[in-house]
Amino acid sequence: MTRPTQLFIGGRFRDARSGKTFPTVNPATGEVIAEVAAGDAPDIDDAVTAARAAFGHPAWRDMEARERARLLGKLGDLIEKHADELALTETLDNGKPISESRRIDIPAAAETFRYYAGWCARIGGETIPVPGNFLNYTLREPYGVCGIITPWNFPLLMVAWKLAPALAAGNTAVVKVSEETPLTGLRLGELCAEAGFPDGVVNIVPGFGETAGRALAAHPAVDKISFTGSTAVGREIVRASADTLKKVSLELGGKSPNIVFADADLDAAARGAASGIFYGKGEVCNAGSRLLVEKSVHDALMERLLARARRLEPGDPLDPKTRLGALVSEAQMERVLEYCEIGRREGAIPVLPGGRVGDRGCFVRPAIFDAATPSMRIAQEEIFGPVLTVISFEGEEECVRLANSTIYGLAAAVWTRDIGRAHRLARRLEAGTVWINAYGALAPESPFGGYRQSGYGRELGREGIELYSQVKSVWVALD
Ligand code: NAD
Repeated sequence: MTRPTQLFIGGRFRDARSGKTFPTVNPATGEVIAEVAAGDAPDIDDAVTAARAAFGHPAWRDMEARERARLLGKLGDLIEKHADELALTETLDNGKPISESRRIDIPAAAETFRYYAGWCARIGGETIPVPGNFLNYTLREPYGVCGIITPWNFPLLMVAWKLAPALAAGNTAVVKVSEETPLTGLRLGELCAEAGFPDGVVNIVPGFGETAGRALAAHPAVDKISFTGSTAVGREIVRASADTLKKVSLELGGKSPNIVFADADLDAAARGAASGIFYGKGEVCNAGSRLLVEKSVHDALMERLLARARRLEPGDPLDPKTRLGALVSEAQMERVLEYCEIGRREGAIPVLPGGRVGDRGCFVRPAIFDAATPSMRIAQEEIFGPVLTVISFEGEEECVRLANSTIYGLAAAVWTRDIGRAHRLARRLEAGTVWINAYGALAPESPFGGYRQSGYGRELGREGIELYSQVKSVWVALD
């Protein structure tokens, strides 16, 4: 197994200019997995220079679309070939159960590259019937150098969501992976080289947000910034990129409502409520962190949900049977435990109290707060952990008002057997994704992104290509 720890710039691995490193820690044990090169502004500058040169180099600029497709497909195949190794690294670095890394994260990353391989030769413009004696047509062209900044919750998959469409559209990239989970992103750099991407097309720089991230967001030779992370940092990115008016797309936080009506299949809804908040330890941007339940079925639903949640004991992420792993870091664990305190102080009822397990590793039990009111902090703020806030409602109007009552708008789900109501709510919920009688389904084919302060732009699907390309209008005089 190879586990690169240096910066990947211009096709080779090297140390940070400062020589500095930082430890990346296994949150299940507290042990240091590796010392990783800490990229900073001068390294970002080197990486952007390499990406700029690669963008103008004939090896990439003139590469036929079908050849780009072949490289993207090959990268997907290489991820699949090394899936066991990548899943193990992801689990060690992030603390997520190996069953999730191996069954979801890594295969989904491979599929994302394969899906965008299929787009390369289909990116085209149109001819437009304009007045006058002209031929008018459009070209869809890459931006140039894309700066990609990713979070720690789905480390490899979030890089794939951005890098695959960026490359398919013909851009080059500098990826700033999260300081919490840099390892699979660096390994991806190695696989890009093996797949045959020309040097400098993909550059991977681990480092801290305040230094490397900020430098990338502000760099004058970066044409586009694509960021996934917290809403607070999203605002910073917009400020940092404002001077050079970069194109910016943001995938930010959420406080997504999971709505259960009295006519729902309550067993299915309880299953969806549990997986919606406890999958990925709740460190999931589209986690169903607010359960809105119609009063008349409150008790029946809670009974089913509690029976499921009580069975979820956090355990060794490397055990294939584990369904709840370790939170990503001590800081994140403290934050989650603090929110449980806040929920108690605010007067919500901790029907499942949560709390830390033991004193080694970042293991936290599921917490469920019932009888919450919409203005409580635990009903408004993203906790990013296995903590569910439950609010009761009566009727569709109150439900919609509650559902749309946070600053976020990433996702929502509705559980009902009434088909008319399901589609009415799909329209009225202010969210980029709505699930009906399901929670958490995602695929590279379908767009994903946020309404309101959950971000701007849509990743995945055709929209992903549009996000990483720009349109040029060409006028040709015909006389
Ligand atoms: P974060 O915002 O702290 O960090 C995300 C990335 O930004 C990291 O690489 C970090 O180093 C970098 N960064 C931090 N400060 C920066 C700055 N000033 N300038 C430039 N870069 C900076 O988020 P996180 O803690 O890694 O991830 C959790 C958050 O991500 C949650 O809020 C979650 O909702 C969100 N998220 C959203 C999606 C989505 O698709 N909408 C997906 C996953 C995670």
